[in-house]
Amino acid sequence: MSTFRSRALQETLHRKLIPMEESKNRSAYFGSHVFNEESMQQYLTKEAFEGVMNSIRHGSNIDRKIADQVANSMKNWAISKGVTHYTHWFQPLTGGTAEKHDAFFELGEDGKALERFGGNELVQQEPDASSFPSGGIRNTFEARGYTAWDPTSPAFIYGTTLCIPTIFVAYTGEALDNKTPLLRALNAIDKQATGVAKYFDKNVSKVNASLGWEQEYFLIDKALVLSRPDLVLTGRTLLGQTSAKGQQLDDHYFGSIPQRVMSFMIELEKECIKLGIPVKTRHNEVAPNQFELAPIHEEANLAVDHNALLMDIIGKIASKHQLKVLLHEKPFKGINGSGKHNNWSLSNDAGINLLSPGKTPMRNLQFLTFFINTIKAIYKNEELMRAVVATASNDHRLGSNEAPPAVMSVFIGEQLTAVLKDLENVTDGKLSPEEKTDLKLNVIGKIPEILLDNTDRNRTSPFAFTGNKFEFRAVGSMANCANSMTVLNTIVAKQLKDFRQEVDRLIDNKAFKKDEAIFNVLREYIKESKDILFEGNGYGKEWEAEAKKRGLSNNKTTPKAIKSKVSRKAIDLFEEMEVMNETELKARYEIELEAYSLRIQIEGRVLGDIAMNHVIPTAVNYQNTLIRNVRGLKEVFGKEFETVAKEQMDLIKKISEHISGITSKTSAMVEERKKANKTDDEEKKALLYCDQVKPYFELIRYHCDKLELMIDDELWPLVKYREMLFTR
Ligand code: ADP
Ligand code: MG
Repeated sequence: MSTFRSRALQETLHRKLIPMEESKNRSAYFGSHVFNEESMQQYLTKEAFEGVMNSIRHGSNIDRKIADQVANSMKNWAISKGVTHYTHWFQPLTGGTAEKHDAFFELGEDGKALERFGGNELVQQEPDASSFPSGGIRNTFEARGYTAWDPTSPAFIYGTTLCIPTIFVAYTGEALDNKTPLLRALNAIDKQATGVAKYFDKNVSKVNASLGWEQEYFLIDKALVLSRPDLVLTGRTLLGQTSAKGQQLDDHYFGSIPQRVMSFMIELEKECIKLGIPVKTRHNEVAPNQFELAPIHEEANLAVDHNALLMDIIGKIASKHQLKVLLHEKPFKGINGSGKHNNWSLSNDAGINLLSPGKTPMRNLQFLTFFINTIKAIYKNEELMRAVVATASNDHRLGSNEAPPAVMSVFIGEQLTAVLKDLENVTDGKLSPEEKTDLKLNVIGKIPEILLDNTDRNRTSPFAFTGNKFEFRAVGSMANCANSMTVLNTIVAKQLKDFRQEVDRLIDNKAFKKDEAIFNVLREYIKESKDILFEGNGYGKEWEAEAKKRGLSNNKTTPKAIKSKVSRKAIDLFEEMEVMNETELKARYEIELEAYSLRIQIEGRVLGDIAMNHVIPTAVNYQNTLIRNVRGLKEVFGKEFETVAKEQMDLIKKISEHISGITSKTSAMVEERKKANKTDDEEKKALLYCDQVKPYFELIRYHCDKLELMIDDELWPLVKYREMLFTR
């Protein structure tokens, strides 16, 4: 055979392992490519160092003189490591990262060449913003965009380029990126959580949100991926018969990591360590050729940058090992998809995790306060939490093969369920000394520091409490974590703000003691938010019916889910917390709708092309072989041929039926696409693509997959599922 497929398969037979030695001294070179506190101390004057540290810790401005000093030192540090270029590194609304490289090289007034990099270049740049999505912000305001240095995320070196993390905003102030709203949300949570944390420790002056992401991905031989136009152009297989063996034996999960993958992982991790990404865990995932990488959690802003950076470098390193990384949430039908669990917690400036039970009743009351407020925040904003993980690609993952469903719920485990039940019975009003003692000794005093049932077992929960953090599991593997972190921190900030007002009111107006007031408010929260708590299996009609009764939303597709991002409620929330204004929210909504339609449009085109130009010609080809065979049988057997050639003739007919199925459905899909393209209303267009165009994908696929089963394996042009999933 000489199909593209057969050549790709040939290639995989000759792969050479690139041997990689495991690094034994990670700590020695951790962050060696980062302009971190240590290198700053070494390269900056005391004044400049303090300026930057103040800005990181307290958000104070850095004046131009100091910026000049920092720029110059950054340049010297970078040049000492062989760097030639610099770039403002930012995260536009495409979801990825962007960079434009400039050389340090400049010509002085005398025409002589010199290496220059000043405060101006460090602090602000104006990339050609017109090619990044703005959802109409720039048109409306006729404003250009600029990138501005974010000192809270340290500069780093990648290759020979100094990368300076920046935010990307319009001159009128509107955010044009994913980072600006995140930074505002982190400010909001800091302010509100600090206010609440002061009930328990008046010395607290800062609360940080932390994020520990777990990145799942597929790793497939490069030649095999390149031979499939659907994978190359859409990141997922649009057709393909399931492999006889899939993940049912569970023999991949936590199994020994294949050699070639191991080499890739070692190299990737070395790169991560240099860049200061504290990678810690690596293992096989459930599906064949699926893997996971997780770092130690960090302050959320930094963790978001690190994940964005990882998603960029992971592909580059895989390529060296002749592998392709698939970050898509559902590259293969019928096989587990990939998620990016966002582990989230809050900690105060003394390093105490506010979502971790402790040794004293006071610590535990603090824990319960943050725990219950988070639950209430999710309950009140369940639609928004669903909306923030909605993308065309994640729609395929949610609700199947162990991924959480589209219904938002919170898993808390048996022990904490019991604690909430006890708290629900706390007396309304002032508490007797006996009741207080009882609560201290028998309820909050009995919360174990280690919660045994809060492990990973309930994988279908979209938002699970796992002992000392919440794990937002519905986030998709391709997503930029900034968005989920923006929403989560904003809704919890708002909730904590309301909580503090309610507690203070009871203290001021009713002369309640602080802990009495807290118990009273928490009791009401538990009663109100019960409907979001769910410990069971998130699959199937049963939970969907139950969720409906509870009034929880169940938006299965992106166009329907994201509408809540621009509801009056959402706009008021984001404006009150000063995270995004109406213009910014609506701009993002437009961009997401457009991205959705474009994705489905591309998938439709690619599927049409493969079905018509790859599958049908192959089917016809094979059919001709059968026809020749039938003719020959007729020559040999004469009248009797009908019995001898029966199967072949049936097959010839079936092939024709499937060919006609593909053709008619593809034309119908094209018609629906045309209709969808006629409307200028992005909301309508996305709905048309979702409800009228997309359903044809499965219908077309059905016929193609049937043909795959009938046609001579030698002729089939597309690399098969078993080959992609089991080639190591
Ligand atoms: P496992 O779930 O494998 O037993 P852990 O619970 O220690 O391991 O961590 C799982 C993930 O949760 C890791 O990515 C880690 O970074 C993250 N994580 C642990 N503690 C926190 C925290 N306080 N805040 C945010 N993320 C955390
Ligand atoms: Mg996990």
